Amino acid sequence: MEAFERNIRKVEPYVPGEQPRQRVVKLNTNENPYPPAPGVERALKELDTADFRLYPDPACSVLVDAIADFYKVGRDQVFVGVGSDDVLSLCFLTFFNSDKPILFPDITYSFYKVWAQLYRIPYECKRVDEQFRIVREDYYGENGGVIFPNPNAPTALYEDLELVEDILRHNRDVIVIVDEAYIDYAGPSAVELVDRYDNLIVTQTFSKSRSMAGMRIGYAIANPKLIRYLNDVKYSFNSYTLNRASLVCGAEAVKDRAYFEETVEKIKATRERAMERLGSLGFSCTRSSANFLFATHPDCDARELFEALKREGIYVRWWDSERIRQYMRITVGTDEEMEKLFAFLEQYLSKGE
Ligand code: PMP
Repeated sequence: MEAFERNIRKVEPYVPGEQPRQRVVKLNTNENPYPPAPGVERALKELDTADFRLYPDPACSVLVDAIADFYKVGRDQVFVGVGSDDVLSLCFLTFFNSDKPILFPDITYSFYKVWAQLYRIPYECKRVDEQFRIVREDYYGENGGVIFPNPNAPTALYEDLELVEDILRHNRDVIVIVDEAYIDYAGPSAVELVDRYDNLIVTQTFSKSRSMAGMRIGYAIANPKLIRYLNDVKYSFNSYTLNRASLVCGAEAVKDRAYFEETVEKIKATRERAMERLGSLGFSCTRSSANFLFATHPDCDARELFEALKREGIYVRWWDSERIRQYMRITVGTDEEMEKLFAFLEQYLSKGE
């Protein structure tokens, strides 16, 4: 090792899902198969590119206001960032500064471990039970903060707000982050708890239910004090985060509640049909409350199937990770895309017999 390398911050980076250039049946990164609300296209056409020479609004006001209106919270309760990955990363930096370990589930969004390592935050992973459920008592002990997704990823399981509130009640002295990237496909959001728990931060994203992964928009909702702390760190790091196009397109997307609800319902309907169909092919899936399915088959090796699917131009996600090696995560696409998947699976399984 060269001497200077000793002073380099080394990390084992997060590995994002593949973004192939060729057209494939893309069921690997939980994007929405439907386009964003029609107002987004109009807003984009109306953008004056001459304004691109000017920095965007560092306070992101049009977008913050639109989100605050939608969720009926104060504008001082909303923070926006470049996707929820950016928001979550800033939350780690801002709120997890204890010598005690932060806690998160062992099977969860793999970025948490990466941020903890990057920022040198001690952490402990708590084992989810055999059904992949979060064990609430594991979060009762002393710690430096708590984070978990609800629904969890990649298990797709939603925990009732009663469990979320119980964890909050047992952790009044630290910050609890609930990562709700997939909440719109599940049950009630923890946003309704924000006014009662001043240690709660809820993060959400435009990448899934609002069909805008490519625009990179995420946000946090919390009490005004925590939002101020987040903004202080943001302004000390990178003040101009969201670009002009994302700001106006994001604001348009939130305004169209009817389109949003219709798209969410379409995905949920396809999800239910897909779960049934996978069941009839011998797969078992967890009870999905997200826009993806977490599936395993007793007779096929998940890695081999994942690779066979890829050769066929059908991309899903698989992790070489201890407890979930025999599972694949399949994003809910359009009905047509799911048909292509099922047609291949039928053929693959019949060959195996
Ligand atoms: N949280 C979870 C649980 C996720 O699965 C994702 C998507 N990879 C994110 C956060 C981040 O999504 P984005 O940065 O696109 O908002």
